[in-house]
Amino acid sequence: MSKSSLKDVKEKLLAERELLIRKLKGNDLSVDDAETPDPVDLAVRNYSKNLMLAVSENETKQLALIDEAVMRIDDNEYGHCQNCKKQINAKRIAAIPSARYCLDCQELLEKGLLDEE
Ligand SMILES: [Zn+2]
Repeated sequence: MSKSSLKDVKEKLLAERELLIRKLKGNDLSVDDAETPDPVDLAVRNYSKNLMLAVSENETKQLALIDEAVMRIDDNEYGHCQNCKKQINAKRIAAIPSARYCLDCQELLEKGLLDEE
């Protein structure tokens, strides 16, 4: 991968990172539980609270992947599968800049056949 396209990828990753951080901060729900508890209201609130937590968990994971990808760019290891070390398809990289694995290994991972570090 050329230096200039690496720079583009890095910028894209950093922009995505910024967005995620902003989203995560926005999710900081300070729900006021001190109010009169109406059971239905409470259930709804708990539900959306759990939903928000699930969302931030995803985003936190995504953030870690992005950080990793940025580190790989700095280490000149970017674009290589973390499992088989083969070069990841350029189209895949363009679509998912934070991808850790090539398509083959990603498939293994999804089938539970790959041990993640
Ligand atoms: Zn691979």
